[in-house]
Amino acid sequence: MDLFRLSALQLSGLMREGEVSSEEVVNSFLQRIEQVEPQVKAFLLLCPEEALAAAREVDRRRLRGDELNFLAGVPVAVKDNICTRGLRTTCASRILENYVPPYDATVVSAIRRAGLPILGKTNMDEFAMGSSTENSAFFSTRNPWDTRRVPGGSSGGSAAAVAAGEAPLALGSDTGGSVRQPAAFCGVTGLRPTYGRVSRYGLIAFASSLDQVGTHSRDAAGGLALFRLIAGHDPLDATSINTPLEEDVEADNFCENGLKGLRLGLISEQMGDGFAPEVKEKIRQTAALLEGEGAFVEEVSLPLTDYALAAYYLINPAEASSNLGRYDGVRYGLSERISGGGVREMFAHTRGKGFGMEVKRRIILGSYALSAGYYDAYYLQALKVRTLIKKEMEKAFERFDVLFGPSTPTTPFMLGEKVDDPLQMYLSDVCNITDALTGNPSLSIPCGLSPAGMPVGMQLSAPPLNEMLLFRVAAAIENMRPLPPLPEQVNILEGGQC
Ligand code: GLN
Repeated sequence: MDLFRLSALQLSGLMREGEVSSEEVVNSFLQRIEQVEPQVKAFLLLCPEEALAAAREVDRRRLRGDELNFLAGVPVAVKDNICTRGLRTTCASRILENYVPPYDATVVSAIRRAGLPILGKTNMDEFAMGSSTENSAFFSTRNPWDTRRVPGGSSGGSAAAVAAGEAPLALGSDTGGSVRQPAAFCGVTGLRPTYGRVSRYGLIAFASSLDQVGTHSRDAAGGLALFRLIAGHDPLDATSINTPLEEDVEADNFCENGLKGLRLGLISEQMGDGFAPEVKEKIRQTAALLEGEGAFVEEVSLPLTDYALAAYYLINPAEASSNLGRYDGVRYGLSERISGGGVREMFAHTRGKGFGMEVKRRIILGSYALSAGYYDAYYLQALKVRTLIKKEMEKAFERFDVLFGPSTPTTPFMLGEKVDDPLQMYLSDVCNITDALTGNPSLSIPCGLSPAGMPVGMQLSAPPLNEMLLFRVAAAIENMRPLPPLPEQVNILEGGQC
């Protein structure tokens, strides 16, 4: 049996029954990585020894009869902007190329404590700025369904690793779609939790009022289990919410309640022009399935969401320009000193050499939006729009339990197709921005394959703290329409430039 083909819960079940060891599971994923990684290129760093050591430790504890976490022994991949003590964490940037964090992010402490072996650190757009993983300073990751196409971004490495069977679970981060958009492009399940639900401590800051750690998994049950493991209050994160999770629901029977009477709103702005017919078709088919299960489905218009992208691309660069001020050649990573130069020259050379194009673009845009004279016209205005959008969403949630639509306007585009057109690139996460601005939880789930065989994603959003409801709907859809198996193309398709 190919263990790497199994979901996180199937693996956890086999280990709990004593059928397989965590060492065997980890070895299966390491072999799969060896086989497909040259084509997928999902990882910036692999740590097989550490993963095997963690697996053996779990196996020892299990034999001893210790009480173990539900997911103990199930390996996980971690996006490279999440700090891992002793493991290089680069943010896919030259400026942090040799940075080895002296501490673990809170989410990493949680997975280590629970005994999930870390397989490696996954590729991403530099500082999580991007939608295709082509902004990585090191190389581009490819989509396992067609290696000439992008996996999405910025958590493209995490989503591609799960899609290719290189890891059953992965951690990503979502500032404006970076978990959900690549989840959709790679045909996996991706959760952006409620803002504050999961600690940001140790997640390298991009835009702090938007950043959230999220999960990639093969299915809803795996995503829920990983989410439950990393969620919770953390005094080290000032925006962390102190509300307990619903404790009573076991990860394997959480979908028993079904969908009867659930009110689902299909966002009409996401079903119009600019959205690919094959994407809309899948969403409509799924809506019909949901109705068949007793859910009430109706279209809802959210006109203010048309302004979400513009507001996001002011707030996001403004916060980024401030957060990235810390990379000055003194405290972290790269330091470019030139003889005869002073401290200003050192700052300029370090930042000039260490940051890529997109990072510089955001710093320039953000500094402009925050500068005297423009602050009110741009940044303040964007904050007001954010508040109005939040109110519009709250109103919609008085009528609907869940809002849904496509996760992305199209299926995955070709490598190189949008790199020279930032606006087109920004538009590829137009569906994901609203929940990032409002802080609502949002889940992208696989919604079948297009006629060309590319994954389509459906996005479900709920009021704050209702992640469980999202997973319930996702699981119900999986019950009606089983998920596709791993893409086999990854083994045969060549091509796509790096
Ligand atoms: N693509 C979006 C951006 O570039 C989202 C990034 C993210 O969520 N980290 O800002």
